[in-house]
Amino acid sequence: MPAEVLVVGSGNAALCAAIAAAGVGARVTVLEAGGDEHFGGNSRYTAGAMRFAYPDGDAIRALLGGCDDPRIADSDFGAYPREQFAADLKRGDPDPTLDPLQRKLVDTSYETVAWLVDAGLPVEPIYARQSFVRDGRHRFWGGLTLAARGEGEGLVQAERAIAERGGTEIRTGCRVVELLGDAERVSGVRLEGGETLRGDAVVLASGGFEADASLRAEHLGPEWRAAVVRGTPLNRGDGLRMALGIGAARAGDFSACHAVCMDVATPSFADSPIPHRARKDFRKISYPFGVMLNARGERFVDEGADFRNYTYAQYGREVLRQPGGFAWQLFDAQVTELLYAEYDMPGATRVEADRLDVLARRLEGVDADAALTTLEAYNASVRGDRPFDPTRKDGCATTGLALPKSHWALPLSEPPFCAYRVTCGVTFTYGGLRVDPDAAVLRDDGRAIPGLYAAGELVGGLFRHTYPGGSGLCAGAVFGRAAGRAAAGV
Ligand SMILES: Cc1cc2nc3c(=O)[nH]c(=O)nc-3n(C[C@H](O)[C@H](O)[C@H](O)COP(=O)(O)OP(=O)(O)OC[C@H]3O[C@@H](n4cnc5c(N)ncnc54)[C@H](O)[C@@H]3O)c2cc1C
Repeated sequence: MPAEVLVVGSGNAALCAAIAAAGVGARVTVLEAGGDEHFGGNSRYTAGAMRFAYPDGDAIRALLGGCDDPRIADSDFGAYPREQFAADLKRGDPDPTLDPLQRKLVDTSYETVAWLVDAGLPVEPIYARQSFVRDGRHRFWGGLTLAARGEGEGLVQAERAIAERGGTEIRTGCRVVELLGDAERVSGVRLEGGETLRGDAVVLASGGFEADASLRAEHLGPEWRAAVVRGTPLNRGDGLRMALGIGAARAGDFSACHAVCMDVATPSFADSPIPHRARKDFRKISYPFGVMLNARGERFVDEGADFRNYTYAQYGREVLRQPGGFAWQLFDAQVTELLYAEYDMPGATRVEADRLDVLARRLEGVDADAALTTLEAYNASVRGDRPFDPTRKDGCATTGLALPKSHWALPLSEPPFCAYRVTCGVTFTYGGLRVDPDAAVLRDDGRAIPGLYAAGELVGGLFRHTYPGGSGLCAGAVFGRAAGRAAAGV
């Protein structure tokens, strides 16, 4: 008899679990709480970018068989060794040792993406966001090189098609509210409305708790009630609650999350009629090329501490900590062509001026005199002794400021000057369930709960002090695949 596997959620982690379980002969049912409009969860809102370790450009080209972009011939994909991925995961962590889950993520990241590509997921280089043209070549930077064709929408639709071809049944409008069984054995689920479904194993891939304002306030702090939710309104911590309710153990830092700078005009998804695809264009993460000011007219982070891939997930929190929970990002004409396309989005909160003092007065909610003083001090502190280069950490730094800018520091000197008002958008939460490297959910005593697996945002502890951009989808694929195989009994 084939194993009966129930998968909760329909995002990247869930679909990878379904593909893997069906691939080894299990009968798989995917249960998604939302209707078709919410199919794919947060995964659908992504850029589809996946971080994985690779030794050289040939390893990238091996994944691009289905991509005929003529720029590939003129691309320098560089390398992203495992050691670098490991170091990026551990940035800011006093203990540099990878735990077993992080080790699995790093070591199997490439083979997992190759597995998806083999199964039929088309991928392509991320030219617009992760490369700059230098000496006639597209030079990639930041360890993030490929994305699913069609971004998040393309990712989940391709994964859905692969899963359905493999025989997976997909049911939407099925919110799972209870696990059948206990810490000795899980044998199915109960849906809202009372229907019960029996199975040999359940894979929870129902996301974190970022969309629930009360859980955010409880774990992240009261100010997080006001954060904009970037993704689906349906990641309300259901999987976490159900698993903890039968004795699963927690892992990771429940007070930490992935949060980015978003335009203040961004409505939370929960209240927003904006369709899936338009949403992510509200993100504002080109701050390494400018400065950020708070209501007191002060800078509050080193905007150029690192590539934005390694700071963007932390800087949303820093913005929320500022008075009023907002900031302005300022740029001059030298860098406007480097700003991501979302800066041009209609409806963005943008002001412009030909003089800095005029711009400072246009920054709503900001002490204009203090802002001008900060900008003048910043401009005077830019060393200007090295060439500006956005493809590497260029060492273009300030000198003499209490809060330095470490890279990409140019004076704001060329009009027109422009500024964008941003707030904090929460992406996903870091605290979750404790699992082993096969994605089995563990109890406090370290034993696995038979029949229960978890993958994706719901897994705790993978990300702590930092989040290297593109790791979420890759982790969901790695542990989704592991969960599917283990749930099918392989
Ligand atoms: C705007 C945005 C852009 C991003 N860009 C990237 C990127 O480019 N690269 C990257 O790696 N990461 C990115 N991320 C992070 C990424 O979205 C997550 O790491 C990843 O999608 C998580 O996948 P998942 O399968 O765990 O959860 P999700 O994709 O969120 O899926 C969870 C699903 O579970 C469903 N669900 C919840 N409760 C229940 C229940 N009780 N019963 C049944 N179903 C339930 C939800 O409706 C949802 O469909 C981005 C996130 C956002 C919001």
